[in-house]
Amino acid sequence: MLEKWGRQCAYCGAKNVPLEVEHIQARSKGGSSRVSNLTLACTECNQDKGNKDIKEFLKRKPKRLKKIKAQAKAPLKDAAAVNATRYATGNALKGFGLPITFSSGGRTKFNRLKLGYKKDHWIDAACVSWRLCSFVIPQAITPLILTAKGRGSRQKCSLLSIRLSENGAQKA
Ligand SMILES: [Zn+2]
Repeated sequence: MLEKWGRQCAYCGAKNVPLEVEHIQARSKGGSSRVSNLTLACTECNQDKGNKDIKEFLKRKPKRLKKIKAQAKAPLKDAAAVNATRYATGNALKGFGLPITFSSGGRTKFNRLKLGYKKDHWIDAACVSWRLCSFVIPQAITPLILTAKGRGSRQKCSLLSIRLSENGAQKA
């Protein structure tokens, strides 16, 4: 759902706020809990909308209404593919006797916020866990930045020039 709706409130576009699952057509008015009737909304919009009809609620935002209606119909194909792949990969690795556990993006974010770190991919990587493990990132540490750049051709097998830089010092 987060991927489908771009991690933002469908009604006002707010990002980085807690999002709630919202029934586009209210359950009290016969709306189903099928994915095509669900969206994500911030608490305020969710409460404002209540069981109002979406056309009524968004009567002053016709563009947004149109966008939500179109997006609601889109299937969760990509998310389903990602989930199927991750479980297949994890289960295959379990076959080697490795201690594999599955976690979620939501849990990673929860851990990061609890530890008080800002959003960054390398910090998230350290926060992936079902359990909250306390760790400290010393302030002097900056991550090794890798940039991959194509060579201007569409050849899929050509080598990419990879530039390694640690404070711009190393190049390879
Ligand atoms: Zn909102």
